[in-house]
Amino acid sequence: MSARKVPHILKLSAKEQKEFVNSFDVVLCDCDGVMWMASSPLPRTGEAVNALKDDGKQVFFVSNNSERPEEEYVNKFIRIGVKDFQANHIMHPAKSMLYYIKKHNIKQPVFSTCSADGNDVLRRGGVDVRTLDVKEGVRLSNLEEITEPEQKMGAVLFDINSNLNYVQMTAATRYLADKDCDFLLGAPDPRFRLGTGVMLPICNDFYLILKRLTGREATIVGKPSVLLGEILKDIYKLDNPKRCLFVGDSLAVDIPFGLNCGFQTLLVLSGCTPIEEMWQANAEDQPHFYADGIADFIELYANISKKA
Ligand SMILES: [Mg+2]
Repeated sequence: MSARKVPHILKLSAKEQKEFVNSFDVVLCDCDGVMWMASSPLPRTGEAVNALKDDGKQVFFVSNNSERPEEEYVNKFIRIGVKDFQANHIMHPAKSMLYYIKKHNIKQPVFSTCSADGNDVLRRGGVDVRTLDVKEGVRLSNLEEITEPEQKMGAVLFDINSNLNYVQMTAATRYLADKDCDFLLGAPDPRFRLGTGVMLPICNDFYLILKRLTGREATIVGKPSVLLGEILKDIYKLDNPKRCLFVGDSLAVDIPFGLNCGFQTLLVLSGCTPIEEMWQANAEDQPHFYADGIADFIELYANISKKA
């Protein structure tokens, strides 16, 4: 189906704006590109979240980035001024993996190639996480010995890890030869583009190598997987998906996630998606609404209260 005209939330009439904010009770919000950029702030995002909370909305955050310590997440939200923020208001793939492991009663140790911060979340949750951190003295002649499986693993965990190396990839390949060993993938984001436009290899590129070598398809626990939607519905008690609004900056991950889960969707242009991409997308892949940034909610609420 060809593209359709997606409405900008500030171009709606005052009546439509009121209907829009009355159409959801819960806001699920991506972080990078929405609340902040990876290494710089975005204006008035905390204020916008507080405006939503003042209107009685529950606001939770759903990131595909586990490579950030829990304390750093909490401090970032405090720094941008989000009130009443608690660590359990954010979900990311390491937490989803923990949920999955508990739910499926995986008692054996797991082999993880995830970041140290992701592993920390899992260990704090009681998971026996095994890693392999040999970085020197590795040659093809001793690779087989170094990556010899130490014991049967319950799962191989694969997610964003900027320190991922060849030894870990090799060990993961060997553990995955055991068909009883589960295989979990955190972030399947298809691309990572620098501000200069240069594309960098990312978690999903390395996952595709493992998939090709082992013939194994991972269970995805990050966006855009419906499984993550089921996890969120369970832990945040989301009884009516239609009354949830998912806010994200990625047309490749956030919007399909929201649509797959039956949420309303709002694409913000403050992150990785240029507006042309939204107009060029097929109608079924487009968001319900778009905005320049989440800070547009500040103006929207001011507009509604003026007309009240
Ligand atoms: Mg994002």
